[in-house]
Amino acid sequence: MTTAAVQLAVHGGPRTLTADVGDLFTWPIVTEEDEAAVLEVLRRGAMSGTDVTHLFESELADWFAADHVLCHNTGTSAIHAALWAAGVGRGDEVISQSMTFWGSSLQLYSLGATVVFAEMDPLTLTLDPDDIEHRITERTKAILPVHYCGHPTDMDPILEIARKHGLRVVEDVSHAQGGLYKGRLLGTIGDVGAMSIMSGKSLACGEGGFLVTDDEEIYERAAAFGHYERTSRLGHPELKPLAGLPLGGCKYRMHQLSSAVGRVQLRHYRGRIEIIQEAMNHFWDRLEGTPGIRPHRPAVGSGSTMGGWYAARGLYLPEELGGLPVASFCKAVSAEIEGGGFSVSPGANILLHLHPVLNEADVYGDGKPTRIAFSDRDLRQPQGSLPVTESLPARCYSIPWFKHCRTEVIDQFADAFRKVAENADQLA
Ligand SMILES: *Cc1c(COP(=O)(O)O)cnc(C)c1O
Repeated sequence: MTTAAVQLAVHGGPRTLTADVGDLFTWPIVTEEDEAAVLEVLRRGAMSGTDVTHLFESELADWFAADHVLCHNTGTSAIHAALWAAGVGRGDEVISQSMTFWGSSLQLYSLGATVVFAEMDPLTLTLDPDDIEHRITERTKAILPVHYCGHPTDMDPILEIARKHGLRVVEDVSHAQGGLYKGRLLGTIGDVGAMSIMSGKSLACGEGGFLVTDDEEIYERAAAFGHYERTSRLGHPELKPLAGLPLGGCKYRMHQLSSAVGRVQLRHYRGRIEIIQEAMNHFWDRLEGTPGIRPHRPAVGSGSTMGGWYAARGLYLPEELGGLPVASFCKAVSAEIEGGGFSVSPGANILLHLHPVLNEADVYGDGKPTRIAFSDRDLRQPQGSLPVTESLPARCYSIPWFKHCRTEVIDQFADAFRKVAENADQLA
């Protein structure tokens, strides 16, 4: 019997990670500046006003070089308002991707509308532009790309399809604030960009979200939907007579403790994501040539970037590792980095199209599933209907989200992935 030269930690061998990770993963970075901003609002008793939020909005508008920003209490509500403001209503269909957080599209139910899932590109994990057009019907109103796990969606062909068919484009930027698509800031490419900035996201304020747009009508409609305190100032002739009450029956303004934190976080955001980009790119560069794994990031020189690398993933090619299931790969890598404050998990968000809420739930008592309550056909998408998307949970995994570029520690994390990939035969 020969002894393998390398013994994996999952089999009792030495762990690859020996360094102290310190605050490598701590996020958001909170300093006395954030604390002072919160205390100022608290002591002034201004938690529920809008003055701090208005300042945050004008700073965000400058940051995006956009005409309008409207802050919301969550990303879910910002996307809800953006969809309604873009004209989505009863019976309408919106095309999006199935692997995402539910807050991308589940709000459509409350508008009497529904989501139709197109395939995802297996390399970018975003909406596949080539799978959209054949899904467009008379009822399609909008396309909702999600810049998923930080990766920009291929927007040019999507804009072209939207223009050709008279559709709106609503970007979900919750994973990719500050990311670029061919040099353009994500969120400013479609008709409206909406996003979460809850604490887990790369731009983080507590609980909150906002939408950004150059379209005054979208901005005013979104304000009319969930911001009753702003309705008296709206100029749109159809909205003016309705001032005083929110059309959506929603109260969506941002908590001002969140606005205060968001202002401070925004001030440091560009500098902090540059460090994250350097760290994450260093991780992937060190893994170049490793079998079975590939980076999830745009090509260098494309003008596209990953923003803050929220929910960072790697791509998995089991065919290069003798068919090793992604869960076994993740378990073995996690053993190599145990104690490092991060463990690798397979897949990403659950696939929405296979969940009973998208197939069976009759949420509003229509006598049939809400997904198809206002449709003239059964547009549910059963198992097998989106083969590429359905293959993705077995073809990606989480990677560590480094907030500082400490290459000696990052190298140990990268080496853990390489050790497992190069010794995958031991796991067969
Ligand atoms: C977080 C998230 C949302 C919703 O944001 P909340 O602030 O949590 O309501 C929407 N879309 C995606 C892709 C998200 O990750």
